[in-house]
Amino acid sequence: MNDVIVYTHKDCFLKFNGNNHPERKERIETVNNSLKKINNVIFKESENTSLENIYLVHPEMYVKNLFNMIPNEGLKSVEKEPYADTYLCPNSRNAILKSVGAGINASDDLIKNKSKRFFCSIRPPGHHAEKIRANGFCFFNNIAITAKYLINKYSINKIGIIDFDVHHCNGTQDIFIDQENVFLGSIHQSPLFPGTGSKDEKGKNNIFNAPIKAGTESKEFIDIFNQTIIENLDKFKPEVILISAGFDAHKRDPLANINLESKDFFYLTKIITDLANIHCEGRIISFLEGGYDLIALEEAIQEHIKALMI
Ligand SMILES: [Zn+2]
Repeated sequence: MNDVIVYTHKDCFLKFNGNNHPERKERIETVNNSLKKINNVIFKESENTSLENIYLVHPEMYVKNLFNMIPNEGLKSVEKEPYADTYLCPNSRNAILKSVGAGINASDDLIKNKSKRFFCSIRPPGHHAEKIRANGFCFFNNIAITAKYLINKYSINKIGIIDFDVHHCNGTQDIFIDQENVFLGSIHQSPLFPGTGSKDEKGKNNIFNAPIKAGTESKEFIDIFNQTIIENLDKFKPEVILISAGFDAHKRDPLANINLESKDFFYLTKIITDLANIHCEGRIISFLEGGYDLIALEEAIQEHIKALMI
């Protein structure tokens, strides 16, 4: 059985989006408290990333503009109506730097030490963040920055990214649309925010989108996941697998309408773990994305981590 190293930081608790906003600190409190009940989970504090690592994905001008928008008090929306639900707060800078930093710390551990399984328990999430556009509660793309860091610093040639958050990863797709050395497979409800993620969006045949209808049940979800994403990732033969782990395809989630049970997150993750054991010496870094029901998060994160231990 593998240990799972969890990178997290209390600064990620301080990101505030206003009362009644679904992306709230109770999410990560619930996740971390649930993880503390599992043996073989090792908590580590993530460090602030350097800005240079963020520049691997986002242009310097965009990064500086965003940090300059951080308010001294209250909230600052980074989007125009009608999608104004992505806010900066006075504590955003450190939450962002620790969230990106978690993936960087995990990458360094992955290469230098023997640990193979990592979970970044972080917020703000990242998979909606495009190269030059914050949206969907995301500012910088945590998983994309980690992928670029592994490629640039450690000469990893082929990265596989799997996104099972219920929303399409418009940001991650925007960043890797023309990069054949990064495989991106996403299963997501459609139609739903952000509106992208059709099967026709293929990039350089490195993008594999699996849009699914509202009301999809567990078996159909896992069948489509296997056929559209896993079979193709198997052919791609990744050297490291990164997971955008959102838990909002759970039947309890208030933001979507897919009917996964908590235990389904074990099966989904085990499929990925089995493939990692075949192709990439078991190397997986998983990132918390969405998931807005606290009971679903408490249960599903346990299933996800237990399958990462296999
Ligand atoms: Zn989501």
